[in-house]
Amino acid sequence: MSNDAFDIINSIIFCHDLLECGQKIINFSDSVYKMKNRITVINYFYEQLYHWAFGHYLFKNEDIGDYIICDDKYVVNMFLALRIPKKKSTVKTIKEIKSFGEFILSNYKKPVGKCITERSLKDILQYLEKEYLYCTKIFSNNGAYFIRLHNTHKNCNSECTIAKKDNKIVNYFLYHMIKKKSITPEAGLFHELGHAIHIKAYGDVNIIPNEIIDILKDIGFPKIKELDINTQSEIFADVLGVGLMYNSPFSIYDVYNEIEMRVKELYNKFALLLFNNIKSEESQKNNNSASA
Ligand SMILES: [Zn+2]
Repeated sequence: MSNDAFDIINSIIFCHDLLECGQKIINFSDSVYKMKNRITVINYFYEQLYHWAFGHYLFKNEDIGDYIICDDKYVVNMFLALRIPKKKSTVKTIKEIKSFGEFILSNYKKPVGKCITERSLKDILQYLEKEYLYCTKIFSNNGAYFIRLHNTHKNCNSECTIAKKDNKIVNYFLYHMIKKKSITPEAGLFHELGHAIHIKAYGDVNIIPNEIIDILKDIGFPKIKELDINTQSEIFADVLGVGLMYNSPFSIYDVYNEIEMRVKELYNKFALLLFNNIKSEESQKNNNSASA
């Protein structure tokens, strides 16, 4: 193996700065493209990436529970391992690795606002488990990862990704806020947890039954029927997130001051009604992949 490619792989694995990694990934792709034994190098790259990202967690599986909050020092490794395109033919893989590096550089920047703290994230998940068995119902057998990335995303404060095989949310990416004074990172987390209830209840982020749309229409969104499914899903996640926050120790993070308390109480009842109807073990057989 060329020292160049080997050195770049090592420096990607031990780099804790996502933006630097993005550039290194582009350099790696350019360097490996010219090599004779590129298939071996590519295989080694993926092996190393997965080993350093997942290795720490696989060896202590008694501690994993229903979800994993990534340690700060592995968060970039984990981001790369979870988001890098899966291997295909060698040339296609090399091109997709380069696009992945470019995607990082064009979508992420240095942190602007706050990110949720590990303490706050743990407190919220523990509270929801204690009150509603949220984690047991939503994450069980799912291996959900919470990634607190030390960067700001160009367009969103947080994201979740949905597994192709069973249509469940598997990764929660929690970024530094786009603006210094905007929604709180905690409200962003509740929004993602709202998406998780939606997907668990109906199996697909692109499916909202008509009766739910009718309810949303009656509780503050008179024009919801005119909107596209993506916008409807975002509103639905907001309502469920605000509903979960209502009357909890985390209502201090609720920034939706324009919504009246009696309406938030309705959101709360709505979220709990939906949540209580979710069975712990249900099979969902759709085949979509999405980001929300
Ligand atoms: Zn969303």
